[in-house]
Amino acid sequence: MRDRSRGALIGLAIGDALGAAVEFRSPGSFEPVTGYRNGGPHCLAAGEWTDDTSMALALADSIANTGWNLNDQADRYVQWWQTGKYSVNGSCFDIGITTRAALGNYVVRKNARTSGDSSERASGNGSIMRLAPVPMHYTHLYPDQLEELSRLAEESSLPTHASEQCLSACRYLAVVLAALIQGEDRQAVLAADWEPLRFIHAFKPLHPLILEVAQGSFRKKQPPAIVGSGWVVQSLEASLWAFHNSDTFEAAVLKAVNLGNDADTTGAICGQLAGAYWGEDQIPTALRTGLARVDLLETALAGLLSS
Ligand code: MG
Ligand code: MG
Repeated sequence: MRDRSRGALIGLAIGDALGAAVEFRSPGSFEPVTGYRNGGPHCLAAGEWTDDTSMALALADSIANTGWNLNDQADRYVQWWQTGKYSVNGSCFDIGITTRAALGNYVVRKNARTSGDSSERASGNGSIMRLAPVPMHYTHLYPDQLEELSRLAEESSLPTHASEQCLSACRYLAVVLAALIQGEDRQAVLAADWEPLRFIHAFKPLHPLILEVAQGSFRKKQPPAIVGSGWVVQSLEASLWAFHNSDTFEAAVLKAVNLGNDADTTGAICGQLAGAYWGEDQIPTALRTGLARVDLLETALAGLLSS
């Protein structure tokens, strides 16, 4: 279980780093990604990762040091934004529009519960991309306390992404990740009639578009109908599509990032799923050792998995 839990965060960072080089590129317009490479819009070195991993590290640090405290989570996102803490190279080079607006709001009002935009148009993938620390630290809430697990996941979205689509996506993804970390079978977890899915939907209805994805929209489509965009619905669907259609961790994350577009984030979300399912042990050595600032990841893992 520890190996799968570590895999969720390491997988997030690997997917992020693999996708960073082709972020914003149209599918088919680039040489398919097969490993780390230099470049991309932020001119990163091979193996360097972006905001997805930085925000996950900030969230992990908050959970490890203060337990569950939304304002502390937001404070650490602000530290990343304003001072470059949790960044791979010491500066915040790629904050999303929705995240920046929400954190600006938080700096003024100091209420992380209300700082995120709750309108439907603010339904980016910025909160599912960083989610892994929640199901990793609270894995024990699966399967008996799904209300609590999904509530924590939903709350973790609020500081920056408060739309119903984002909240629903976090609730669903956290329960899926916790189940995979617990060693549940992939096909069972992704089934349309998966009991925990029915349960969290009955407890509080999921947004219809997220429910449609959770019930298997990703099985019925292929690219170009699968789109690795920044919209939380398409992003979750694309990540599940890549995960579901692959036989190895590496195949899954490469499938995700080769969709281009918001490649780092599709990679980060798929990497959480694939890492939680196959575990750190099944991640190719080159992908693990080629990752930049592994020390930051190890600090986060130590804090998350010991306390
Ligand atoms: Mg990014
Ligand atoms: Mg991105």
